[in-house]
Amino acid sequence: MSPHFAYRCTLVGAGPGDPELLTLKAVKAIASATVLLVDDLVNDAVLSHASPTARIVHVGKRGGCQSTPQGFIDKLMINAVHEGERVVRLKGGDPFIFGRGGEEVEHLRQAGIDVDVVNGITSGLAGLSSLGAPLTHREHAHGVVFVTGHAKPGDSGTDWPQLAATARQAKLTLVIYMGVSSLEHIGQGLLSGLPAQTPVAVVQNASLPTQREALTTLGELVHTVQREQLESPSIIVVGDVVQGARAWTAQPQTAQKAA
Ligand code: SAH
Repeated sequence: MSPHFAYRCTLVGAGPGDPELLTLKAVKAIASATVLLVDDLVNDAVLSHASPTARIVHVGKRGGCQSTPQGFIDKLMINAVHEGERVVRLKGGDPFIFGRGGEEVEHLRQAGIDVDVVNGITSGLAGLSSLGAPLTHREHAHGVVFVTGHAKPGDSGTDWPQLAATARQAKLTLVIYMGVSSLEHIGQGLLSGLPAQTPVAVVQNASLPTQREALTTLGELVHTVQREQLESPSIIVVGDVVQGARAWTAQPQTAQKAA
């Protein structure tokens, strides 16, 4: 039997940044909220859909790496719901791809609050698409792995050599979130299972006017990111599908920075 919940709130994916990538459902939920709790990676333009009388509370920290204490956000949400507010928790990309959406849902349910979820376009999809390349391709990639470069404190994190070996064997594209700050460690690990010439795209601020990107190889990754001064929030895509990026296709001889 499903548990009975007296209260509800809505977890909404705000997409990667471009407000036109919001779903219609997200726009409706934002417009009907009386309280919005907003993550840092959410573009302010998205809030133009909110009611002028809605209370907007900014929570969370840039990059989604260190966060406002989760307990504090949970408390704010739970209190607002119990006070009868229509609460929308607005999260960057998709609420259930990293960014701790799963933990929030667990805490809300424990407080007797059920959660509706509105999907958003995750930045891991928007990153390579913005360069005109797919994440899967019959010739180059049979699947995609979304993986975080940033583990919970005390967690040993991803086994990069193992993941690289699997990606090579199974022809998988790797889409790495929160990877810039541990790039050397990630790059080294991946190089033990994938060739140095494996194509890599790094896309910062995907879908926003401030988007910047670089196309490179695994062997050159650290150097390229340093040279181009790419920073968080960035998506790193590793795999042969990156060769489908416009700039790469235009000049396939060498890995280079995109226009
Ligand atoms: N739920 C989010 C991810 C949160 S984790 C989503 O689905 O997109 C935060 C990480 O997401 C960042 O460190 C970065 O790796 C990535 N990210 C979020 N927005 C981004 C953007 N516009 N461009 C590139 N990467 C982004």
